[in-house]
Amino acid sequence: MSSLFEQVMWQHFPLAAGAAVGTVSLSIGQVGTKGPTALVTAGVHGDEGPWGAWAIRKLLKNTSPDELLGTLRIVPVSNPFAMEADARNAPFDTLDLNRQFPGDHHGSHTERLAALLTEQALKDVDTVIDLHGGGSWCVNAFAFQMPGGEALVQAVGAPFIVSAPDRTVTLTGYARSQGAVVAAVEMGGRSEAEEQWANRIAAGLRRALGVAGVLTPSDDAPPSPSIPVGETVVLRPSRGGVFIPEVRAASVGTIVNQGTVLGYLMDPVSQNIVETFTAPFERTAVLLLRPMMARVEGGAMIYVLAEPRE
Ligand SMILES: [Zn+2]
Repeated sequence: MSSLFEQVMWQHFPLAAGAAVGTVSLSIGQVGTKGPTALVTAGVHGDEGPWGAWAIRKLLKNTSPDELLGTLRIVPVSNPFAMEADARNAPFDTLDLNRQFPGDHHGSHTERLAALLTEQALKDVDTVIDLHGGGSWCVNAFAFQMPGGEALVQAVGAPFIVSAPDRTVTLTGYARSQGAVVAAVEMGGRSEAEEQWANRIAAGLRRALGVAGVLTPSDDAPPSPSIPVGETVVLRPSRGGVFIPEVRAASVGTIVNQGTVLGYLMDPVSQNIVETFTAPFERTAVLLLRPMMARVEGGAMIYVLAEPRE
């Protein structure tokens, strides 16, 4: 069966990069030429990129050309040198790409990258879905909603929905300021469940692109309605040490009771447990966790939690 995967046309745009390579290509794929246009990006934060690219591949492979009503544009590697470094940001200027929009063609590497994405990827888009995720150190289970994107984000089908702060320096925030309907997805990351999360993201993209009118409407329903949550809180260790998870990958995207022990911090020298992380709310939605043991610095992000609104 032929799929959208075989029909993607690629364009490669030069971006100023390191001394040895001179320029690197930003690659933008597109299938279709008419109708409403949706952009799907991954790897804006480089360490989160591999999982998003895998989900985009699944979407394309599972979608027949007959289902295409509009134009689908993809940027699976939105921050090439950040991906190369397995880091959030590119090493040249270490700026957070997702705080640089609309960018500056005369600025530093990441500012130029934002300008290139603004000019070439965000051009004439009606819908933008930006795929983030846990990367190599955590697992996430939510999506950011912005005004106008309610139906889109429900179609994505993340366990939890967070209202995004109103700012125009992010890729989706800037796109929204220019009139696009947007969602930012924070699902998955390195864990035993990474393949299920990739499948869930791909299915969410398929439904959302149906809502966007870029693909035929999907008759598939999300696994469960997304639960809106209030302001998020981040649990961080007061000092460095070894983090020992108590709840693991299966608990992200679920609601746990107040006082549930989530994990511990061990002093690796004395081997004493020096801190215990517990669920702070009567019903605590787990949006992000570290599924594996890890060395952590003081102040590291260990959990993102919130109170469900229903
Ligand atoms: Zn990210």
